[in-house]
Amino acid sequence: MASKLNILIGAGALASAGMAQAQEMKLRPDQATFRALYKEMVETDTSITTGSCTALADKIEVHLKSAGFTDGDITRFSVPEHPKEGGLVVILPGSSKTLKPILLLGHIDVVAANRADWTRDPYQFIEEGGYFYGRGTADMKAMDAIWVDMLMRFKKEGYVPKRTLKLALTCGEETSTAFNGANWLAQNKRDLIDAAFALNEGGGGRTDGKGTVTRMSLHVGEKAAVNYRIEATNVGGHSSAPVRDNAIYELSDALEKIRDYEFPLMLNDTTRAFFGRLGATQNDEMGRAMTAIVANPGDKAAEAILNSDKSYHSMLRTTCVATLLDGGHANNALPQRAGANINCRIFPGVSREEVRATLEKVIADPKMSVTLTDDRGPLAVSPPLTPEILGPAEKLVAKYYPGVPLVPTMSTGATDGIFLAAVGIPSYGPPGLYGDPDGNGTHGLNERAIVKSVYTGRDFLTDLVKDYASK
Ligand SMILES: [Zn+2]
Repeated sequence: MASKLNILIGAGALASAGMAQAQEMKLRPDQATFRALYKEMVETDTSITTGSCTALADKIEVHLKSAGFTDGDITRFSVPEHPKEGGLVVILPGSSKTLKPILLLGHIDVVAANRADWTRDPYQFIEEGGYFYGRGTADMKAMDAIWVDMLMRFKKEGYVPKRTLKLALTCGEETSTAFNGANWLAQNKRDLIDAAFALNEGGGGRTDGKGTVTRMSLHVGEKAAVNYRIEATNVGGHSSAPVRDNAIYELSDALEKIRDYEFPLMLNDTTRAFFGRLGATQNDEMGRAMTAIVANPGDKAAEAILNSDKSYHSMLRTTCVATLLDGGHANNALPQRAGANINCRIFPGVSREEVRATLEKVIADPKMSVTLTDDRGPLAVSPPLTPEILGPAEKLVAKYYPGVPLVPTMSTGATDGIFLAAVGIPSYGPPGLYGDPDGNGTHGLNERAIVKSVYTGRDFLTDLVKDYASK
């Protein structure tokens, strides 16, 4: 998943040493059932190296059938080259013949975790000190389990929503070389997953690090990740008789220019709403800069203040940064080749070629080449920020998190939502869950989700889906 800015966050610091021992919450029966499912999902390793999404999808299929779903409701998918990276789609039919369905999306794969580096076994689900520990507890098996559990409950209760609810559980989000199930469904099973909109990861709240939720976010759109290679070539020669014309020096000149170049400031509906709403709640220099930039995007003083926060800096423009470097072929030879990978995060609506041409212009060296090497997916398209999407989320934030502002957020990272947006299914990351400002070990060590966040988020998301599905 995406950047820390809008990842699931939590009430970390509330767990004092004493509370840490006695945090076993009194669970409702439905919560205990959910917890067992969540535990099973976390304890099923779905990393690309040692795990299998297909094995987890097998288990989920068994649960869905025990809740009353039939073969006709469930579609399993995978490709022969990636047998362990399968997923499933399940459908709960709605009563309306005219309203379009809602798609719930979740990636069930996780980032690989090395047992030796972790404090606890990453594939053991451990509740301790107000947290659920384990790989995937935050990214994103809490939401996956919430989606699966929700559909099973609806089925068992005989609840029929107006809109058909679809759930797609996919693999490959965390690994660029993997089989990306969301992309595959968008390209090959567009009708199966057709929906008015999708709900996915990327939204959620953030605490102040001391246990108080300070912000809830609705994730609307994201930047696109694209890699370029810049390369200098040279005839080279013997290093005992050097000349200034040298591929490594040429490359380093180019890298300095890229470091110093700032792409122009851009705003869209989502980021205007983000800075406008957040600015209104924050009575300090940063808050005033947010308000000022919305009123006047040309306000350079406000821009400079916002740029001092790396997340805001990235939300306001396309960014490009050197991430890999190679050059030369021997200690005693003038380099014949030197190159670097430039990783760009492109603002929605800007083309890859536009960015490539900008890099070429910034480098301003006709002997250096700039080529697009790969991109994670399609051009980023911003989903519309409509009252139909925002309204119910606002209402529920007021109910579950009174006084906490809901801000629409554009992710500077990447989710599978980009593949859906590309085929005309706008994708949103709802609020409801929350996490700590440090990112809760997502993709890193000792990943954890806040217990209270998971149970409250589950109730929140159930209400939210019911609300969206009823109109
Ligand atoms: Zn994720």
